[in-house]
Amino acid sequence: MLQQFVDRFLRRAKPRHIPREQHGIDRRMVSRHAVKVCEVLQNEGYQAYVVGGAVRDLIAGIEPKDFDVATDATPEQVKPLFRRARIIGRRFRLVHVVFGSEVIETATFRAAGNGTQRTDNHGRLLQDNVFGTLHDDAVRRDFTFNALYYDPHTETVIDYHRGVADLKNRVVRIIGNPEQRFREDPVRMLRAVRFAAKLNGTIDPGTLQPISRLAPLLDNVPKSRLFDEMLKLLTCGHAMACLRQLRELNLHHGLLPLLDVIFEEPEGERFIELALERTDHRVRAGKSVSPSFLFASLLWHQVNDRWQAYRAEGEPVVPALSNAIDSVLAEQTEKLAIQRRFLADMREIWFMQPRFERRAPRYVWRLLEQPRFRAACDFLQLRAAVGEVDSVFAQWWMDLADGSETQRAKMIDELARSPSGVSDQPRKRRRRRRKPKSDVAASNQPRTEGSASNQPKTSAPAKSANTAPAATQPAPGSASAPAATPADPSPAPQPASRGEPSSES
Ligand code: ATP
Ligand code: MG
Repeated sequence: MLQQFVDRFLRRAKPRHIPREQHGIDRRMVSRHAVKVCEVLQNEGYQAYVVGGAVRDLIAGIEPKDFDVATDATPEQVKPLFRRARIIGRRFRLVHVVFGSEVIETATFRAAGNGTQRTDNHGRLLQDNVFGTLHDDAVRRDFTFNALYYDPHTETVIDYHRGVADLKNRVVRIIGNPEQRFREDPVRMLRAVRFAAKLNGTIDPGTLQPISRLAPLLDNVPKSRLFDEMLKLLTCGHAMACLRQLRELNLHHGLLPLLDVIFEEPEGERFIELALERTDHRVRAGKSVSPSFLFASLLWHQVNDRWQAYRAEGEPVVPALSNAIDSVLAEQTEKLAIQRRFLADMREIWFMQPRFERRAPRYVWRLLEQPRFRAACDFLQLRAAVGEVDSVFAQWWMDLADGSETQRAKMIDELARSPSGVSDQPRKRRRRRRKPKSDVAASNQPRTEGSASNQPKTSAPAKSANTAPAATQPAPGSASAPAATPADPSPAPQPASRGEPSSES
């Protein structure tokens, strides 16, 4: 009864037309391509607005990631109006209007759940593909500040649910009946947490109230969707705040085994905190973050624990690590569909960790050529920061990663000369190759165009016939399988043998 009244009220509610002075959006901050799409559609007599996250972020003073447009034109009506436009999606079709590297996602207004749409036993909407009016579209969106429609022509914002006021107060409020809306799509609970963290705000008490109770509904959400949302959460620039909130709301239990571990094994927490702090820092500085690195960090404590346990049982270093990785990933991927290309990269980052211990020149040169060398080096820094490895040792690798070819050659050469530096290389006596004078001269020459940036320079013993870098460099597509050459006594890890393609392939 009450619900019907609320629904009817929401449908009938008159929207506010908020002028520029009140919402404060600077038109120059709006993508000119999004403005163009709206103009073209409006000139054809359709309604068209910039909508969703972009309007929310612009009002909140955050630079939007992308711009979406909502219109009453159908995909078939939109497509012919633009030179480069394609209809995408089978279940819910929308149009991608392409301008160079920018894509403006243009969707037709959709109708909210009216009780006739298919749901699962828990109330999760299984379809969401009925076109509707602007009113309908505003009702079916998740949070009040996500249902704002900006008209670039009049510079007004159409606001059905007092979203601008909520945004100014930094309150996350779901539209409609919270329980029903979370049942329709449990991912909205995670979105609530993310927006609260991103806006440095709070979740409205009514919206918050059913969340802990409904948390188990996340079990019914497809794994790939959970992964996408989890990734958004971890890369929103406020990852640590998000995870804390997930924990408070008991959402972490249902969500990921990984989060249980993070919070219930305090020794691992520092490592993760540090990884997330660094990630947040990068995101806020507008730098890219690598999902593989992030997940490798989040799972490291578990991997490391099991690795040490297998070693204590007498397994050699690399097989022990391999088994540890397999068992941890098997558990995690039961719940969360970490994409295969990320898994391959994570394995590489982990497998490189024991390889850093071996600093005989030819191993070093070989490691330098691994595609994930830089990421693995950053990872080593994290381990050093929590005291897991020696910080001078980690810094040596970082300097090597940052160094020019000449500096690298010098560092490796110096290390080979110092008895302590090569203590970890095999005992086998090896003849030191003397550096020919011409090579020294060559290494002092400025680098010429086309010289491969990571080609070992001449002072490296890796130049010797059977360890030539060209021969040891993995072929494209097999990058994740650093092959052991006959001259290499170390059994190199073979992550690709598990059938995951490397990201390079
Ligand atoms: P961000 O891009 O930062 O994740 P966003 O709000 O733009 O935030 P999108 O997933 O891009 O999120 O969705 C665009 C818009 O679609 C949202 O602003 C919201 O209006 C609507 N929307 C997205 N997900 C849902 C959902 N689960 N339920 C209802 N509406 C949604
Ligand atoms: Mg968006």
